[in-house]
Formats: sequence, C-alpha cells, structure tokens
Amino acid sequence: MASITMNNVVKTYPDGFTAVKGIDMEIADGEFVILVGPSGCGKSTLLRMIVGLEDITDGEMRIADEVVNDKAPRDRDLAMVFQNYALYPHLTVYENIAFPLRLAKGKFTDQEIDERVRRASTLLELDEHLERKPANLSGGQRQRVAMGRAIVRQAQAFLFDEPLSNLDAKLRGQMRTEIARLQRTLATTTVYVTHDQTEAMTLGDRVCVLRHGEIQQMASPRGLYEQPVNLFVAGFIGSPPMNFLPGEVQGGTLHTPVVDIPLDDRMRRALGDRSLVIVGVRPDAFEDADTLPAQDRDKGLTFPVDVDVTEWLGEVLYAYIPFETHDAVRDKLEELDRDLDGEGMRTQLVVALDSLSPVRAGDTADLWFDPSKLHMFDPETGDNLT
Ligand code: ATP
Repeated sequence: MASITMNNVVKTYPDGFTAVKGIDMEIADGEFVILVGPSGCGKSTLLRMIVGLEDITDGEMRIADEVVNDKAPRDRDLAMVFQNYALYPHLTVYENIAFPLRLAKGKFTDQEIDERVRRASTLLELDEHLERKPANLSGGQRQRVAMGRAIVRQAQAFLFDEPLSNLDAKLRGQMRTEIARLQRTLATTTVYVTHDQTEAMTLGDRVCVLRHGEIQQMASPRGLYEQPVNLFVAGFIGSPPMNFLPGEVQGGTLHTPVVDIPLDDRMRRALGDRSLVIVGVRPDAFEDADTLPAQDRDKGLTFPVDVDVTEWLGEVLYAYIPFETHDAVRDKLEELDRDLDGEGMRTQLVVALDSLSPVRAGDTADLWFDPSKLHMFDPETGDNLT
C-alpha cells in the first residue's frame, strides 16, 4: 500500500490543450478518494497520469514517496479497473484473474497463483463461475472479474475509471456496496473516477471536485454538502441540486422571490457591504409548516407559496415552486448551468418534504425553513460567503 502525492501536476496534450492545471493533492496510505466533476473536467486524465498511461507535462507525481514521473506503468505496481472491464473473451474467469500473475513470468508458482485466484474469487463471490468465459457472465459478474484481476496483484493502489457506468441502476447500487466493502477489507489506497453523485458521496473518505482541470474543493462528502466553497461545488453536489435565488438587501431584510428573510449576525457578517447576493438553500432545508410541531416552527420562517408540480417518491415528496429570477444574477446562474452540463433548475424552487405531507400541485401551501441552513454566494466570484 502507498500514499500518492501530486505537486503542481500539469497535463498539456500535444494539441496545446491543458486538461490538468497544476494539481496539488495528497492521498494518504489506505485512503479512498473520489475524483468527480462534469464531463471534460480532467478526471480521467489525472487518473491516467497516476497510472502512467499519460505522461506528466509538469510537476511531480509521487507514489510511496518515490517520484514516478518517468516510470513505466508496469513498474508502478498499481492496478486499474476500467469502465469496459477489458477482460479476455477467450479466457475463463480463472485465467482472466490469474493473468497479471502469469504475466510476471516466473515470479509466482502455480500453487501461489492458484491460492491468490481462489482467495480473490471467494472475496468476490465468483467461486461458482471460475470455469466460465466472460460472454456467459452478467455485467456485474464481469465487473467483479475485473476487480479480481486487480486484487490478485496485491498492488500498492487501486485505480477505478467509472467502473460501474455500464451497469443498470440496481446492479450499480449492489456493486457500489461491494466495492465499499472490498476497499474496507483490503484497506488499499484507492482513487476512483466517477460522474455519479451517489458513488461520489457514498464511497469516498474524501471527494475531490474538479472543474476545468482545477480542484474546486477536496473534503469529506459531508463537508462538501454542508460547506461548499463556491456556487459550482454547491450546485454540483446534492440531488436535487441546491436552490439558488437572487437575494437583495434592503434595511434589515434579505428579499428573495419566495421569502423575505430578516438578517441575523451571521448573514450580516457574510454580506459585508454587498446589497445583492445569490442565496443557496438545499431542498431538504424546507418542511411543510402544517406538519411541524408548533415549538419547531418558531425556530424558522414560515411563508406561503403556490405549488406548481409535486412528485411523490415514497420516501419523499418534492414540490416545485416557480419564481422570477433577477437580471443581475441571471448571467452568473446561466454560466453555472453550462458548467454543470445543464443539470441545474434555476427558475423554480425545489423543496423536499416529508412524504406524508398532503401538499399537492395547485395548492397554496405554507412552507417552513431554517435560515441557519442558508448559504450566501458572491454574485461575481461565486464564492461562498457564509
Ligand atoms: P468524461 O467524464 O467525459 O470522461 P473527464 O473529466 O474524464 O471527462 P478527460 O477525459 O480527462 O475528462 O479530458 C479532459 C479534457 O482533455 C477534455 O476537454 C478532453 O477533450 C481533453 N482531452 C482528452 N484527451 C485528449 C487528447 N488526447 N488530446 C487533446 N485533448 C484531450
């Protein structure tokens, strides 16, 4: 096992495009780190530089304190699991798993190979399938064979490039927990690329959010969710995404299109001398005021809304409330939407209510929210001020 350290790592492709712009990162021995970000942000490039499949234009990459910039992939002792599994169709599951050991000619005896393959196959519940060919396996089983091949080498670190993206939603969920369990059992340093929110938030000790080849924030999943450093991270992490409303300060009040919020000390400090901010509130900061006990109501603000659409999903009820955004923040929010591949919804408030809430489309409802959960972002820089 090994730590991975990057100092000012840069990747400029031969056509002059700089995909990775000076990354500093320290991944501890045994840590599970997720690289996440919209398409084209440079996450695969970064992973491929760790493995050695892309050379490093500038900066320094260290694995276990050794500079590996000029080291060939096979000498880095890392195991990579690809999106398309890269299995050999003519080999059995057993031989696919054994392959990296046979490749290291003479290093392992047949008995050692057999022991390692069987240990991996038991861990991955592949014992019954060892004699099958990949064509006769399900997607999830193929993925497990690919992981088996990584495990047998007992490499210093595992690198995953969107390993679950070819699986259907149910299997993804299952494999996600298997990967989490496996990583905990083996405690091997792991770097995992995904654009899937749930994978990012559930698998990693820490998550690194990338944009245009730069780190926006690297923190625990909870840290990213509760204290995003800027609009981009706030909008990228969380599903449905954080609501962004224009907020205008007049006297002691922050006016938004849906609710007027009395300023408290925390908000005043964050505001400084600004009179316009982008207010961010997560869908789960709201409640149906009618279902709240009276003593809890007093801890927040209650305000009326016209509900346009509702979605009942069993465990949660989403209600959508349209609002007019403000010209002064429209450009910034449109820029954010482009950055997020259009994932955002910027002209309707999304609230996540208790599934027992009777609120339905067309209703006028009283919503409640806790102002201490509100974020304020600078409309120019996008920085989180709170
Ligand atoms: P995705 O989620 O779509 O796989 P990504 O975040 O993994 O995206 P990369 O594959 O690392 O992104 O690519 C980062 C940027 O570098 C993209 O803009 C891509 O077009 C560019 N790029 C990748 N490979 C090359 C190359 N060989 N030559 C020039 N540019 C490249």
